[in-house]
Amino acid sequence: MANVSYEHVFKRWGEVVAVNDLTLHIEDKEFMVYVGPSGCGKSTTLRLLAGLEEITEGTVKISDRVVNDVPPKDRDIAMVFQSYALYPHMSVYDNMAFGLKLRKVPKQEIDSKVKEAAELLGIIPLLDRKPKALSGGQRQRVAVGRAIVRNPQVFLLDEPLSNLDAKLRVETRANISRLHQQLATTFIYVTHDQIEAMTMADRIAVLKDGVLMQVDTPSTLYDHPGNVFVAGFIGSPSMNFFDATLVEQGDTDKLIVDSGAFRLEVPGDKADQIRKYQGKEVIFGIRPEDIHAAAFTPPGVIAAPLNADVDVTELMGNEIFIYGLSGGKTFIARVDPRTRVAPGETIDFNINMANMHIFDPTTEIALV
Ligand code: ADP
Ligand code: MG
Repeated sequence: MANVSYEHVFKRWGEVVAVNDLTLHIEDKEFMVYVGPSGCGKSTTLRLLAGLEEITEGTVKISDRVVNDVPPKDRDIAMVFQSYALYPHMSVYDNMAFGLKLRKVPKQEIDSKVKEAAELLGIIPLLDRKPKALSGGQRQRVAVGRAIVRNPQVFLLDEPLSNLDAKLRVETRANISRLHQQLATTFIYVTHDQIEAMTMADRIAVLKDGVLMQVDTPSTLYDHPGNVFVAGFIGSPSMNFFDATLVEQGDTDKLIVDSGAFRLEVPGDKADQIRKYQGKEVIFGIRPEDIHAAAFTPPGVIAAPLNADVDVTELMGNEIFIYGLSGGKTFIARVDPRTRVAPGETIDFNINMANMHIFDPTTEIALV
């Protein structure tokens, strides 16, 4: 049983504020992912919990115990590093056994723990090898195995897949998810890759410049991003953003998103929520998959028409990415692969306004 709490935590190095007033609670057995661009403070946030960095201000708790001054070895956690940090002169077996030997765990017990972990990870045949005789994926599993044998309450993993090729990353991602289910312990996983975050996490904490931007389930972050940063960071290709004004249509109660180049009607329920911003400038956000080719618009879409110039098309097999131009601004649409259109032509799109996003241009916070 181990939950984790950060309460108003800061980490500063002189002028650098790597962690800025972080308050975050992680549930027992949860799979939490810290995600954000390079340098946003993910590793530091993890290392504060591991006890590898000193906390400048605030409180960190594991299982409701304040651990600010508890040495790393007494925190009941294990960490897997990006570099794996295996001992090159030791066999896989000895790498996995090393931490237990230091703790004077009886030989018999070490042996059964190492073999049990090796079995779980499918690395029994590798136990006698040295790290240099292993592939990247095998090294990664040894590093995880070394953490498992310690039977920690909390697993910390810092970009453990970044040294693997794309195909192996996808496979290993699923293995780590499975491992989390089997071990039924708390996992905290750091990555800069939003797809890893989306596929593995129970909840995702999105960080930017040391500040927690939003923490929620993958689907809530995707469907209801709280600000422009999260909206743009989660999802690939990214959400399209347009500067626009909210205007009322003549003397009707229709509310329109007006970019200058296009005018799109806001559906009734959303219009009621944002009518108070009428006349104001906003940022209009729409995901590429909510821009359909008019000829292949799925039934049930609350569609607003948009005609645009086609700049580039990319056939992905199951879909086509169209880089459209509207009012001099490029946007991306993910359309049905049967769509026939060439660069230089124009195309009619339908925007699924049920999934539109509206942000305040000053605070960048979501208004709907
Ligand atoms: P991430 O893991 O998200 O890439 P880090 O947590 O490693 O980011 O770093 C966050 C910020 O703290 C960066 O600006 C980085 O340069 C800075 N930083 C990290 N470690 C140190 C250190 N030991 N001394 C000074 N600045 C550091
Ligand atoms: Mg890092």
